[in-house]
Amino acid sequence: MAYSGYRRPPEYASKSSHSSIIKDQAVIDFIGKCTFQTRDPEDAFDNILILNQKGGGHNPIKRVMAADGGITEVAIQESFPSTTISFLRYGVSYFEMEDLMELDKLEFIGYEDIVKLDNFNSFSFVLPTKNIRLKDCENIKDSFRQVLYEHFLNADVDDYNLMDTLVWFMFRDYSPDNKRNFVSIQCPHCERNADLFKSAMKKYAFKCPHCGQTIYLTDVLKIHNAVSDDNASAIKKPLSLLLEQLLLVHYIRISLEINPNILNETLFIRDGPLAFFGDLSNLSVFMHDLFKYLLENNNLFLVGIEKSGAFVDFAHIIDPYLENGSVMLLNSDYIYKHIYYGSSDKKGYGYNTYYGCKVIFKSFKGDSYVLTVPTTARNMNDPKEEHYKNLSIILDSLTMLKSDKYDNALLPIALVNKNVSISDVPGSVILQKLAKTIE
Ligand SMILES: [Zn+2]
Repeated sequence: MAYSGYRRPPEYASKSSHSSIIKDQAVIDFIGKCTFQTRDPEDAFDNILILNQKGGGHNPIKRVMAADGGITEVAIQESFPSTTISFLRYGVSYFEMEDLMELDKLEFIGYEDIVKLDNFNSFSFVLPTKNIRLKDCENIKDSFRQVLYEHFLNADVDDYNLMDTLVWFMFRDYSPDNKRNFVSIQCPHCERNADLFKSAMKKYAFKCPHCGQTIYLTDVLKIHNAVSDDNASAIKKPLSLLLEQLLLVHYIRISLEINPNILNETLFIRDGPLAFFGDLSNLSVFMHDLFKYLLENNNLFLVGIEKSGAFVDFAHIIDPYLENGSVMLLNSDYIYKHIYYGSSDKKGYGYNTYYGCKVIFKSFKGDSYVLTVPTTARNMNDPKEEHYKNLSIILDSLTMLKSDKYDNALLPIALVNKNVSISDVPGSVILQKLAKTIE
């Protein structure tokens, strides 16, 4: 440590080395061959459809339901080999708008008042993450496949089972005239492609037509593809994103089956964009099919809200130039010109990942939102107002849900974030105790 007193802080050293790189002739020559965005934020309003949100009309929304998930990885053995499991909690927070309106009448809102709105239903999922497997499985991938299958089998909301929702969703049972007879999959054992026919399904599983081994219906979600020989850590985030979005589908199915009118008065919110990425991206097609069907045959109020990322950064930059009540419907050309400069895809931005279109909204209260809203159009090449069936009611509801009386938070998101968060310290202690009981 003899030199420590003379060393510059790492950030300073880093910036200093960057400035010498930028002066390097090879870098100067390379930049000379490139084009990149240097526009004024005011240019962002050329050739973009900006609607004016009128607000204040009849709003049929009577309840709000928001979904989110939280996951933490815990070492159950610190010494070599490091052994970890992960604990995921995902769920929905929900309340009646009538109760929120009662709160709004109060001059001061305390914790005890908010508790009246704090209804939460959740599921937990424990997955093997590192150097651990189920006793009757040969590896971590098969262990994960089995726990995911068993989780879906056991996850019930009243009499409604999550595995049944997966069947309803994957085989399009919601659409009497357009059901699927089979789903396609790459067998997790022999890796050959197979069509799994619903008529051949037993206990939500199939026999591979090539190798004869068991393929679970949950394998069609493909999330096990990210598990390596000894480590499932890479699936923590995608698993959380998958389960919280399928949980919304589960509640939408329950609403539809109890009484379709429930869909006419419920706003479903996801904390994040309406999209699947990586191996999960094929699910966006299934989602689009479902929500297009509901928009055309029933009703649907669903919105994804982003809190970080390139779109949020962009919205922040243009915010001072946007009037309150503005609604920007973003198309692909616009996104590639202003937000993801240097990218393009003929099918349109997010064609293989999103199941909705992007909207930037600035409310009458002056809050900006980056949203995804399901539309009847599959891509974002030319989204029109008529493709967003319930946009103005969704925006009006979001405006009502945000108040400086409760920490300037969008209340359903704040509640669900709090409910799914797993404090590292207590969470770890509980899981380590759990691990000891297993031993
Ligand atoms: Zn096989």
